[in-house]
Amino acid sequence: MAKRSYKPELVGVFGFPVAENPTVVMMEAAFDHLNIDWRYLTIEVKPGDLEAAIGGVRAFNMRGINLTIPHKIEVMKYLDEIADDARLIGAVNTVVNEGGKLRGENTDGKGFLRSLKEEYENGVKGAKVFLLGAGGAARAIAVELALAGAEEIMIVNRSKEKGESLARTLRDNTSCNVSYIPWSGELKIPERIQILINATSIGLFPATTEFPDIDYETIRSDMMVCDVIPNPPHTEFLTRASKCGAKTIDGLGMLVNQGVIGFKLWTGMDAPRQVMIDALSREFGV
Ligand code: NDP
Repeated sequence: MAKRSYKPELVGVFGFPVAENPTVVMMEAAFDHLNIDWRYLTIEVKPGDLEAAIGGVRAFNMRGINLTIPHKIEVMKYLDEIADDARLIGAVNTVVNEGGKLRGENTDGKGFLRSLKEEYENGVKGAKVFLLGAGGAARAIAVELALAGAEEIMIVNRSKEKGESLARTLRDNTSCNVSYIPWSGELKIPERIQILINATSIGLFPATTEFPDIDYETIRSDMMVCDVIPNPPHTEFLTRASKCGAKTIDGLGMLVNQGVIGFKLWTGMDAPRQVMIDALSREFGV
């Protein structure tokens, strides 16, 4: 009789706080569906303990790890290699263990790009984009859009320092035409804009009735409007954009797609995307 292995392959997430991170739901659903012996662990790692925790990834020969708040930047110090786009973004959300060598990747922006490519037939190349926010999610999205050939990105952010810093990174490293615009009063979306993205945390649970302060009358029906907030995915921002006739993309798709990309990096297998969407939708009650 063939011997059964009692040792699963291990992946997971390090964060603090981390208990409410739902990634385990979609990853375990995917492992079950493909009938592979992998486990996704949700692990609380306090600030100050990250170096030891990454030592644990090596010692346990874990196949990889996701990073969430507050570890996405600090982790870069402890890795052997960092992907070029993750270096530009300045943060790593996925580590891949390749035979003992730890490589840092950032799948957030790539997950967003995949959602956009699925829904937006005009494509990203040559696109003119209006981006709200300059935090971690916005940086990841802006870098991937610029690398994918977006022609123009207008960055709007409340804090000038973060907005200008992102604009500078893109200008210095890509050929995209980038500008920073301070967020003062109700914002009008210029007519040439084709893609409007909310990459701020406005509208995140429990503040689900909040929405970015823009002039919604300047959203046109031929625009693609996207939000990064995954739960609940039907944000007030997207509801208002839909009322203007615009096509919309929610943050649930981005969350699943970044997981789909991470799954492939870790297992080498194509992830069962629909299974992962269904699992998370059930979890979020949508
Ligand atoms: P950060 O804290 O790094 O950035 C938050 C951003 O929101 C900053 O640009 C901040 O502006 C802006 N912001 C927050 N409140 C306001 C406000 N009242 N008015 C104007 N601007 C505001 O967070 P992240 O970038 O990591 O996360 C942002 C959102 O993206 C979260 O909702 C998160 O859930 C979501 N996300 C979704 C993912 C997905 O896969 N769907 C992946 C990663 C994140 P300022 O700089 O001025 O403070």
